[in-house]
Amino acid sequence: MILPEILSTPSIDFSKIRPDILLLQSKLVQWRRQLHIQPELGFHEQVTGMFISQILTTIGIPHKTGISKTGIVATIASSQPGPVLAIRADIDALPIQEENELPYRSQNDGIMHACGHDGHTAIALGTAYYLWHHRHDFKGTIKIIFQPAEESPGGAKPMINEGVLKSPDVDAIIGLHLWNNFPLGTVGISSGPLMAAVECFHLDIFGKGGHGAMPYQTVDSVIVGAQIINALQTIVSRNVNPLNSTVITVGELHAGTGLNLIADKARMSGTVRYFNPNLKGYFNQRIEEIVSGICQTFGATYELDYWWLYPPVINDKKIADLVCSVAMDVVKTSDRIVSSYQTMVGEDMSFFLEEIPGCYFLLGSANQDKGLTNPHHHPRFNFDETALLIGVEIFVGVAEKFCQ
Ligand SMILES: [Zn+2]
Ligand SMILES: [Zn+2]
Repeated sequence: MILPEILSTPSIDFSKIRPDILLLQSKLVQWRRQLHIQPELGFHEQVTGMFISQILTTIGIPHKTGISKTGIVATIASSQPGPVLAIRADIDALPIQEENELPYRSQNDGIMHACGHDGHTAIALGTAYYLWHHRHDFKGTIKIIFQPAEESPGGAKPMINEGVLKSPDVDAIIGLHLWNNFPLGTVGISSGPLMAAVECFHLDIFGKGGHGAMPYQTVDSVIVGAQIINALQTIVSRNVNPLNSTVITVGELHAGTGLNLIADKARMSGTVRYFNPNLKGYFNQRIEEIVSGICQTFGATYELDYWWLYPPVINDKKIADLVCSVAMDVVKTSDRIVSSYQTMVGEDMSFFLEEIPGCYFLLGSANQDKGLTNPHHHPRFNFDETALLIGVEIFVGVAEKFCQ
């Protein structure tokens, strides 16, 4: 969905991008398109990993491969000691069949870079390229983290467990997501929660099947399921403080095999989203209370499988202010900065931000004039590649200011 109030023809002032980064554009586009051609799913990014490693080797940047299967960390050390900043890019694609007619469309059937992670990887490579060639212009160390499996099941946590934030210890981390909900060059940022926690559940309801004309002889799992779906929404509307934004969505419901049969089983699956980390544990418990009460009322039984996927993405105010001031220099006008932006989507960048201060932000990549407005995860998703330059400029600007 495009936010109508900020949808306008983007005007980018290229004088705000340093010449050495402008010169990188053809490389950025070439890298991004090569990645787009060969998308791979989470923890299977072998070709992607080899591609990244090859480029880093050609530039001359020391790096470690095979972290959490397919993750890579490149280290750019200046000649002077100083702070350590990490820059994170996710590298995985989605199980979607691409419908774009492009010379660089996906060659892997059923897999597509439909979220823009090919762009994130290209931006990280461009940032690495620039910072390596200007490594005497800053103090300290930049670590570039190429993370697998953001879409699922999550590569951030295993990379942290394998020590990517250690030796040298990382002081702060930044990352970005290209964002087709914004026109090219608009930056969405928050100095607190930016993205929601993601929790998920499967629920099986067991009733008693029978003839559709004689329901009194049965326990109708469809009726029980319907009551539960309705009641779950009261958690949002009647249990949680309305100032704590929350979403509960039942996205799947499966039951029954015939129009005149009472279904003995129903299965539903859903997701819970919220920003306030203090609510962790609450939804699991409340959903179970509701499910158990309704099942007992109707004489059904159930099995609830509930798990926590990602915590909320919460930015550090100081780092967010730094990113904001750099972004303001690049995009020029304050109406191109959407501060206090929040979205209920989730991201495993949150695990890094639980460990160390940092800032994740959104970089507008839609361009209505070029027909590039499809949302993320759409089979015709594509973005304006000018955003690659802007991403590199912001990353480099933050790196130089943090490491001075
Ligand atoms: Zn995505
Ligand atoms: Zn994504």
